[in-house]
Amino acid sequence: MTKKDLAKVLKILEKTKFDLEAKINEDHSAETRLTDEVDQSIELANKQFKESLRARDAAYLKKVNLALHRINTGGNFGTCQECEEEIAVKRLFIRPTAFLCTPCQEAQERKKSQLPVAPRGEKVLGA
Ligand SMILES: [Zn+2]
Repeated sequence: MTKKDLAKVLKILEKTKFDLEAKINEDHSAETRLTDEVDQSIELANKQFKESLRARDAAYLKKVNLALHRINTGGNFGTCQECEEEIAVKRLFIRPTAFLCTPCQEAQERKKSQLPVAPRGEKVLGA
């Protein structure tokens, strides 16, 4: 990976981090108080939905921070953790948090989908 490409990935990561942090903080302050019963049930569903989104954002933010940490500490960013081949730059532009190359990622996903402990997998396959 060239320095120019790395700088570009770094920029993407920093922007993603900024956006995620803003989103997570904004959701916290945007709690609404409703008194109507119907509104309350909608609000509850809405809140649960927001919670799940926030959890997903927080999990992604962790990955972003990890990727930034790997870049800033001169770690093996852009190297597949499985086969130690370079991850395609194009892939990193789309998914800068990737730590596996495409073939290893696909192999891992195949392995995961064979595990019996993922009952929600049906949804993913049906989508
Ligand atoms: Zn690999």
